[in-house]
Amino acid sequence: MKEYDVIAVGTGSVMAVVEAMIEANPQIKVAVIDKDEPGGICLTRGCIPSKILLYPAELVRTIRKARGFGLDVELRSVDFAKVMERMHALIHKDIDQIRKGLSSTENLDYFHVPAEFTAPYTMRVDGTEIKGSKILLGAGSEPIIPRIPGLADAGYLTSDTVLGIRKLPPRVAVIGGGYIAAEYGFFLAAMGATVTILGRNPQFLPEEEPEVSRIARTHLSEVMRIETNQEVVEVTRTGGSKRLRARDRATKKETVVLADEILVAAGRGPVRILHPERAGIKTDADGWIVTDEYLATSQPNVWALGDATGKFPFKHKANYDAQILYSNILGGEKRKVDYHAVPHAVFTDPEVASVGLKEAEAVKQFGAANVLIGFYRYQDTAKGEAMDLKDYFVKVLVERQGHAILGAHIVGPEASVLIQELINLMYTKDRSVDPVREGMHIHPALSEVVERACLSLMPPEHYHHTMEHALDIRSH
Ligand SMILES: Cc1cc2nc3c(=O)[nH]c(=O)nc-3n(C[C@H](O)[C@H](O)[C@H](O)COP(=O)(O)OP(=O)(O)OC[C@H]3O[C@@H](n4cnc5c(N)ncnc54)[C@H](O)[C@@H]3O)c2cc1C
Repeated sequence: MKEYDVIAVGTGSVMAVVEAMIEANPQIKVAVIDKDEPGGICLTRGCIPSKILLYPAELVRTIRKARGFGLDVELRSVDFAKVMERMHALIHKDIDQIRKGLSSTENLDYFHVPAEFTAPYTMRVDGTEIKGSKILLGAGSEPIIPRIPGLADAGYLTSDTVLGIRKLPPRVAVIGGGYIAAEYGFFLAAMGATVTILGRNPQFLPEEEPEVSRIARTHLSEVMRIETNQEVVEVTRTGGSKRLRARDRATKKETVVLADEILVAAGRGPVRILHPERAGIKTDADGWIVTDEYLATSQPNVWALGDATGKFPFKHKANYDAQILYSNILGGEKRKVDYHAVPHAVFTDPEVASVGLKEAEAVKQFGAANVLIGFYRYQDTAKGEAMDLKDYFVKVLVERQGHAILGAHIVGPEASVLIQELINLMYTKDRSVDPVREGMHIHPALSEVVERACLSLMPPEHYHHTMEHALDIRSH
């Protein structure tokens, strides 16, 4: 049995730790295993290809809106195959480079095959067993396929396989209402497909604040049909179509959707083939690898990072974990993970971005009397007015005493960029929002909406009154 100093599963963020270990000691023997193309999910079938595809979708939306500004433009056609080819060309440039690096590193064996644990510190790869004194698990996650009668027979795409299509399906049903469903639904709709989202949760984008979700849903409904609280109970094939029967989970009313293609985006789960339990590595009830605050698993000298731990499945968090592991494994100061401000964004039009606590969590943790909420609409800034924006807003939650930022939620253009001002302050000692209140903001830039939200702090009750009136909604 071949023995290694280090075995790494995955070629995403874990590679930063592997590279640092090799740099610290070029003599160590390393095995790196990835069943898929190298680079990890973010590069091969996650963040990067999806955002390459979403940019032309954004351009389509911009072109469509241009008429309202007195510009006589029209979109004559979309070359869908070209949009897909551009994405493949861009990601494969990086994938090929990573493959070359892996294949040419001295003392590193690169296995492009699935791996499974057979015993502690022992894995089966390519029909043989290998052993590692240290094991790094950066195994990521995989799409969950709900057990719906007829789905497998009818056939479906996932966020992995949708990247392989070259022809736009005219009608697409998306099973799922989270951010992957929203992003791919938006992309396919912008390319010209008729898209129906069938979300199981009562709320579209269930991870977001209800009012953020509400505004995102209203605006995204201009390009696709969004149904929530829907249980897809059966899929059948009729003629050339796929027929989805969905049931409203509250009213039991049934809806039928006909589609040419189904995209399943119903959440992600742990990689099933890994079997950490055979190696004495504890997993939780859902199968995610349990780690302590140093990212160590229950088995000595085995660590896990990124999506594989089931916490905050985002690339920037996986990269952060890699930094923590690097410190903890290579000596130096032992570092604990700190996830108080892990941000995320949804790259649709409108964009959605969020960090930290939501209002209900903040009120539960600190009490309503100790929380203040800032709120401002884009349209009430000069730039927002110039852009003819409607409904979009910034919401910021702070502690009454000392103004420490507890969370922030934005829906509107550049939300993923605007929120960074608040994220950075959440990594200062006192986390105070005051620098945003005191610092000059360029006029008339979109960043003024963040500044003004932070200048308008009010108690939660007052916030609800203001927000409901401003957005013309009832949130309760
Ligand atoms: C469609 C989509 C869009 C996304 N968009 C964003 C975004 O915009 N921003 C963001 O921050 N995050 C996004 N993510 C999430 C992001 O891709 C992940 O958080 C990130 O890739 C996690 O990195 P990781 O290092 O934990 O593992 P990964 O990069 O996921 O790598 C795991 C690798 O290990 C391999 N592997 C697993 N088990 C085995 C095994 N037993 N044997 C061999 N190989 C194995 C896998 O095949 C995979 O290649 C998106 C994900 C998806 C699916």
